[in-house]
Amino acid sequence: MSLDLIDIGSNLTHDSFAEDRDGVMARAVQAGVRRQIVTGADLSSSQQAATLAARYPARLWSTAGVHPHHAQSFAAAQHAELRALLNMDRVVAAGECGLDYFRNIATPAAQRAAFSAQLEIAAELRKPVFLHQRDAHSDFAAILGEFRGKLIGGVAHCFTGGDLELDAYLALGLHIGITGWVCDERRGQELRNTVPRIPADRLLLETDAPYLLPRDLSPKPKSRRNEPGFLPHIAHTVADLRGESLESVSQATTRNAVALFALTDS
Ligand SMILES: [Zn+2]
Repeated sequence: MSLDLIDIGSNLTHDSFAEDRDGVMARAVQAGVRRQIVTGADLSSSQQAATLAARYPARLWSTAGVHPHHAQSFAAAQHAELRALLNMDRVVAAGECGLDYFRNIATPAAQRAAFSAQLEIAAELRKPVFLHQRDAHSDFAAILGEFRGKLIGGVAHCFTGGDLELDAYLALGLHIGITGWVCDERRGQELRNTVPRIPADRLLLETDAPYLLPRDLSPKPKSRRNEPGFLPHIAHTVADLRGESLESVSQATTRNAVALFALTDS
């Protein structure tokens, strides 16, 4: 069987890929990860992600947005810049955006303002949203609730929660992004119990590379750097937990990614 997976969250503009990005791309394709969506975390990395995506047609797309850690820098003056990025052809989602109260690098009030502003822009431009949430579930769900019916779709990226969070996100119409967190039998246990309950038409896969190297990957790279070519390992784990074949998980998640992000080869 030849795999055709899509990594919906790779941080390919990260410095750790500066030396061997072409090699990382080639290994991904070799492993069956034929397409990736490169995550933007602020306006400058979103611009870099869009530039990188343009260099690999039919392989890479990107997101554009402002991560909650950078919320303080997303003033009204920056809205036009985000709109311009989102109007580019291969920029397929707004984000990552959301709330992160775990570290509170930006104040919660600034995070909420930046999040709402980006949801507004995504709704206006009819782009799906790429969402980050940590320790902020109730505010996050409440703000998304205000946009119910206005957004065309979105993904709860790097979902690590349990049944209650899953049910809330499904009710909001979101897709669920699963990373290598699911490969960790200790801290990922709650997630591992919940993964079988994710409807097949809402499931997406991502590495979040270079972060979140799957804990049970063997052999592990000396660098401890995660890369998109390790996505099949995550897909295997998800398939096992769901009692499905790798092929069925691969087909469903690829179909979902193509539909949510409206990926076309042009
Ligand atoms: Zn994130």
